[in-house]
Amino acid sequence: MGNATGAFEDSACCSGVVHWLRLPFTQGDLLVTGFPRRSNGSANGAYAIRGEHHGRPVFQRIGSKGPFIYFWDDRDGESWCGWWLGPILGGAEVWGYHPKEDMMPPEYGWRSPWHGEDSKVIRMSVSGRVSLLEVRPKKKEVVPKWIAEPGFGEALTEDAQLLQSCCICLEPLWNAEPSVFLTNLQRLCPHYFCSQCAKRIVVEQTSLGLQPFKEDMQIAFLDGLASVLDAKGGRLGDLVWTETARRLTDGELYLVFSQLELLVELEVGMEFRRCQDQALVLQKGVLFGCLLLLQGRSLRRVHPEELSIEGLDHAVVQPGTLIPLRRRFVVYKGGEIQFWRCQRCSFENSSSDFGCKLCGSPPSCPQDLPQEGRRLGLAGVAALRSRFAMRPQLHWAVQLKCPLCRIAAVALVVPVPLLDQAPKEWFDLVSQQKSTISQSDLAQGLSVILPLSVDRLGVEVQRRFGHLVWPLTFDDFLGEGGPAQWACRQLHALRSGRHAQVAEEV
Ligand SMILES: [Zn+2]
Ligand SMILES: [Zn+2]
Ligand SMILES: [Zn+2]
Repeated sequence: MGNATGAFEDSACCSGVVHWLRLPFTQGDLLVTGFPRRSNGSANGAYAIRGEHHGRPVFQRIGSKGPFIYFWDDRDGESWCGWWLGPILGGAEVWGYHPKEDMMPPEYGWRSPWHGEDSKVIRMSVSGRVSLLEVRPKKKEVVPKWIAEPGFGEALTEDAQLLQSCCICLEPLWNAEPSVFLTNLQRLCPHYFCSQCAKRIVVEQTSLGLQPFKEDMQIAFLDGLASVLDAKGGRLGDLVWTETARRLTDGELYLVFSQLELLVELEVGMEFRRCQDQALVLQKGVLFGCLLLLQGRSLRRVHPEELSIEGLDHAVVQPGTLIPLRRRFVVYKGGEIQFWRCQRCSFENSSSDFGCKLCGSPPSCPQDLPQEGRRLGLAGVAALRSRFAMRPQLHWAVQLKCPLCRIAAVALVVPVPLLDQAPKEWFDLVSQQKSTISQSDLAQGLSVILPLSVDRLGVEVQRRFGHLVWPLTFDDFLGEGGPAQWACRQLHALRSGRHAQVAEEV
């Protein structure tokens, strides 16, 4: 770290702040001070704008691989919306959070840990050089007239067999929301996937990170999220469906709470009673519930025969037998059956249904969920583990491996932007963040948005634009009469249904 950032590092105390205020911005676009020290790197220091994410600039600490300061919009819910600081853009590990949606990272009010309190000493100060960005409304790319209205032609199309297809499902890409993996704003690898497959890769590879529940974990509704806590209340991650790794909604969590409430531990004085085809539990002579057996990691009803065989029929739980019995049995409390009313069709569903039986709608949450955690005993763990799991918190970007080239990193799925609406973004992505693009890379990129093969596009690009200077700069790419306009005219014609079959010409 240079001398300048070293000085900022120590500016958390009052005199330090004054000292810091007098320092000019020697480098970078943003200064961070007051962040608690960490074992795996410091967040304090100078940052430079590295690109854009969700409509706001991304800052990367100068002279290191990270951390990043980036914005996440409300696409995953209000509780994730705001500014973040973490070692990887969108990664599971985050060091700081600010809930505001300002165009620039707010100066005060940061939280570290991210779900903690306002830290008071953390300060982010944006250089005067970049604060102008703040007033610039975001901001669609300004698209020249010849791109917005590229003129009419006939769309060239080719035999579907020849088109560039998703490397996994073989669906032609041009019509399947082609997507790539990005890691800290850079392409992970040159491969393209249809958005379905890309999302599935993320889900599959994320699911590997799912962890089973353990005794003494707690589940809670924290910051508006179905969460899993450790025994001391420290946040471990999200409560998710095992099958999809999707976080539970508040309505679903409400049902889980209601179900768990029906599982009750044995108490001294409870009595086992065999009754026709059931093994029941009485309390003070009154029916309390039925007996469940904790078998391995699951729960099942006790067969009345088993009660007799074990000599437990009419047995009363004694202080001396309580603990061993609790390790084996739990009571499923009968009584009032709970319902939830579907908000869409008003059908009354039982609390064991996680979707409306009539219309399939998800459950709604009829009341505020308790903020404190609910401890999972052995029975709770067994009850939950067939369907739910814990996913370590935050996972926009996940550790994944491209199934083709096997390159691995923490990455995000990003759809290829629309060429006629965001040509610069498209160019940066397709050229893999270089300032120029080669003929073959351009043909590759165009082949994922047009129904033409890479070979055919190579021929077209050479025939029409071979006279330009290659590799091509963005300005030449976008210029009037350039490749961007030609490709946009193709897109335009495709959308208006003017097709021409030209495969034979090749
Ligand atoms: Zn696919
Ligand atoms: Zn319904
Ligand atoms: Zn790859």
